[in-house]
Order: sequence, then structure tokens, then C-alpha cells
Amino acid sequence: MFYLSQKKITRLEFLKIFGVSGASLLLPGLLPNGLSARAQNGHSVKEDIIPVTTLIKPDAISLRSGDNFGSTVVFPDGYDITDVNVSSVRCEGATVVDNILRPKDRSIIFLYNIGDLRDNLPGGYSVEFTINGQLNDGTPFEGSDTVAVLCASQGVIYHTSTRKRKSCNACKSHAVNKIFASRELADINRAHRGCNCGIVKEEINWQYYISAFGQTSKASATVYDKRWGWPPQLPMGA
Ligand SMILES: [Zn+2]
Repeated sequence: MFYLSQKKITRLEFLKIFGVSGASLLLPGLLPNGLSARAQNGHSVKEDIIPVTTLIKPDAISLRSGDNFGSTVVFPDGYDITDVNVSSVRCEGATVVDNILRPKDRSIIFLYNIGDLRDNLPGGYSVEFTINGQLNDGTPFEGSDTVAVLCASQGVIYHTSTRKRKSCNACKSHAVNKIFASRELADINRAHRGCNCGIVKEEINWQYYISAFGQTSKASATVYDKRWGWPPQLPMGA
């Protein structure tokens, strides 16, 4: 669990995390396959905004650590990354403290400091981070990825919602009682096949969050049913 260490992550270590070796920096080539594949997930596309595929590292960010974190942003075909106005780039309030341009991949690695993230950023095992910025001509670009965020004051949970819908009792009960650690989990664990309820996110007290989902590992509980007790029982010793 390198992400919990107190050690500052250096620029070079970051490059390794993103799969960039010293040699490939000298001779920029294609992005590692794993990175391209993962970067396809979860970016949001809006009209007139250039959609960029985004991957944030490390996978878990402790808000108390003061470390750096990074994002790789890959532009679609036809864009020249030297047109990017780096000073316009923000990731949940954080400005860029360092960047590495990789023109042949149309990608840029931006580094940020965790201490620069917005104050009210919620925590949880699946927190959506959006990166946005502009080209020098003002054209906006945007992409997002989800990461785990630890040591927050609120936690993000996801659940289905029957608001403004005619719903069966199974969906109503499910929406009121079952909360999930990620949007994907809420989607695959619906009340019944064919359920088309919306999925919404909500912030809950961090103590409730870690009581429901566990504190230390992404592999701990991913669903909590409020009928098991609400607020959840605090862990022993908390
Ligand atoms: Zn439903």
C-alpha cells in the first residue's frame, strides 16, 4: 500500500507509476496498452468540450499526506498538445505543479499537490475527479477518472433513486435502503433485472462511511443495507 506511506513521491517515481521509463521519455512512443484501455473509462463528454481520456494515479489519495498526485490526459486525434494552456488546468481545485508533454502520444502528465485540492472534496472508494483546462485559443477540454480518497470529512455513496418515476415496491425499498461504494456497483446490483432507476450520489459523514464500507482496503464491503442499522455500528475501538 505505497499510497499510505509518508514518503514524498518523486517526479521519476511518478513516471514509473504511469509506466514511463527513462528510455521511453527520451524516445516517446505509444502509451502502455493498460493505460490506454483504462483511460477510456469514465470520461464525460459535453458539447463543444474536447473529451480527453484521463487516468489519475495513485489509485488512492490520502488527504492528509501532502504528497503529489498525477493525471495522464490523452487528447483525441488531430489535437496538438503544445496548444494546451497548462496554467488553465485544474483538477478538483488543484493547479498544476509540474507537467510532462508527450507529443507523439498526444498526452500530458500533469502533477498536482494533494494539499491544493478543494477543501470540501469528499472521500470514499470511488470519488469522481474531473480535470479541465483550455487550449491557448480558449477551447475547453475535460475528462474524469475515479480514485479512492481517504481521510476526508464526508464520504460519497451511490444509490438508485425512484424520484419522478413510477416504480415498483422492490425499487422503492432498494433505493431507500441500499447504498454502494461506487456508481458501477449501484448499477450492477439493482433491485431487479430491467430496473431503469437513476443512480445518484450522496455525501455522508465519514465515520458512517468507514463503518459501512471499511477503512483500509478497496476489497472491503461495497454495499451496505440501512436495515442492518443506521447509522452503522462504529468499528470496535473507534
Ligand atoms: Zn429500479
